[in-house]
Amino acid sequence: MNKVLIIGAGGVGNVVAHKCAMVPEVFGEITLASRTVSKCEAIAAEVKKRTGREIATAQVDADHVAETVELIRKTGARLLINVALPYQDLTLMDACLEAGCDYMDTANYEPKDEAKFEYSWQWAYQERFEKAGLSALLGSGFDPGVTSVFTAWALKHHFDEIHTLDIIDVNGGDHGRAFATNFNPEINIREVTAPCRHWEEGEFVETPAMSEHREFMCPEGVGTYEIYRMYHEELESLTKHLPTIKRAQFWMSFSPNYLKHLEVLQNVGMTRIDPVNYNGVEVVPLQFLKAVLPDPGDLGQSTKGRTCIGNVITGIKDGVEKAVYVYNICDHEECFAEVGSQAISYTTGVPAMIGAKQMLEGGWSKPGVWNIEQHDPEGFMSDLNAHGLPWKCVELGVDMAKRLAVV
Ligand code: NDP
Repeated sequence: MNKVLIIGAGGVGNVVAHKCAMVPEVFGEITLASRTVSKCEAIAAEVKKRTGREIATAQVDADHVAETVELIRKTGARLLINVALPYQDLTLMDACLEAGCDYMDTANYEPKDEAKFEYSWQWAYQERFEKAGLSALLGSGFDPGVTSVFTAWALKHHFDEIHTLDIIDVNGGDHGRAFATNFNPEINIREVTAPCRHWEEGEFVETPAMSEHREFMCPEGVGTYEIYRMYHEELESLTKHLPTIKRAQFWMSFSPNYLKHLEVLQNVGMTRIDPVNYNGVEVVPLQFLKAVLPDPGDLGQSTKGRTCIGNVITGIKDGVEKAVYVYNICDHEECFAEVGSQAISYTTGVPAMIGAKQMLEGGWSKPGVWNIEQHDPEGFMSDLNAHGLPWKCVELGVDMAKRLAVV
C-alpha cells in the first residue's frame, strides 16, 4: 500500500488531500503535515465528511530538515508531495534524500530574501537523486504543470517542431472582495511585480513588469480579458527541453481593479521584501500585507466565474505551418462544491495529485530530477479528463495564433 506525505495545509494542500483521498487504490495511506497542525486537522475533518476516508495529520516545520526526515520515517512515506511554499523546496529535497523518499512540488525554489526564481538550485540535485535511486518531479501544478504537459503532448501529437508558445492564464472569476490574491499573497505579489522576461531567438529578453498587454477572447463564452505578459518559471525549463522554440511568452489576466490596488501598494512600499524597523521590531512589509489580506483559502465560498488556462502553440508538421490551442476551463463554484476550494487552488491541487499518481504507478519514477514535460504525457493527460480538469485541443489559423506577438 502506497504511503504519501503531503506538506502544506493551505488552499492547494486542501485540494491535494481531498483528491488523493478520492483515489484509494493509489493513495493507500495519507498524512497531511504543516506548520500549523490545526489547519491539517480541519482539512482532515472535511476529507472524512466528503470521502469517508481517514487521513493522518502532523506538525512539521519544513525549514528544518531533521524534523521532516523524522516524519518521513515515522509515516513510512514513499512520496513527499510539497505544497508548502517555494522557500521550502530545497530543505524538503534534502530531507527526501536523507530519508529515502521520492519528491514532488508545484513551484520552483526561491530564496526568501530575493524575489528570484529559477530552476538552477533544484537542477543541481540531479546527480544526488539519481545516485540515491530516487525520483523528483518539479512543477506539477497547472502552470507550471498542466501547461508544460500540454506542450509535450502537442509536440507528440501535432508537431515535428514547436516554434512559438504562448501560455495564457485567464481567471474570469470574481471573489467579491476589494483586493485579494487567488493564491499565497506573498508569492503572488513577488511574482507579478518582478520584471518580465520572455524567450526570443535563443535568449531571455527583459522588459518592465506589466508593460505588454493584449486582449484575449476565451472560448466557450468565458469572456474577453486583458492579458499581461510576465515571467513564469516554466519558460525556463520548456525552452531548455524543447530547443526548437523560438519565442515563448506567458500571459496572465488582471482586472483593472487588481492593477489599481497593486500600483498603490507598490508606490507606498507595501510590496517590499526587505525588513523595515517599526517600533524596534523588524517587519517585512510584504509579509505584513499578507497577514491583513484575505486568505486565498477562504475565497472559495464567494468566488464565481471560470478560469481558462491554455497554450497557443505554432510550429511545423510535415513541412506545413500549423497552430493549436490546448486549454482547460474550470468553474469556481463547481470546485467549491466538490472540495471546498476555489478554482485556482483546484487547478493546482488536481495536477499535483495526478503527478503523484504517475510517480506511484511507476511510469514517472525514473531516478533523477525531472521537469514534468520530460515525462511521457499520455497518462497525465487522460487523468486530467478523469479527475476534474477536462481539456480540449482546437486548431487555429496560424496568423491568428501569431497575433499574440504583434506589439
Ligand atoms: P498557502 O499559503 O495557502 O499555504 C501554504 C501552506 O504551507 C500553509 O499551510 C503554511 O503553513 C505551510 N507552510 C509554510 N511554511 C511552512 C514550513 N516552514 N513548514 C511547514 N509548512 C509550512 O499557499 P497555497 O496553498 O496557495 O500554495 C501552495 C503552493 O502552491 C505554493 O508553493 C505556490 O507557489 C504553489 N502554487 C502553484 C501553482 C501552479 O499552478 N503551479 C499555482 C498556485 C500555487 P501556515 O498555515 O502555518 O502558514
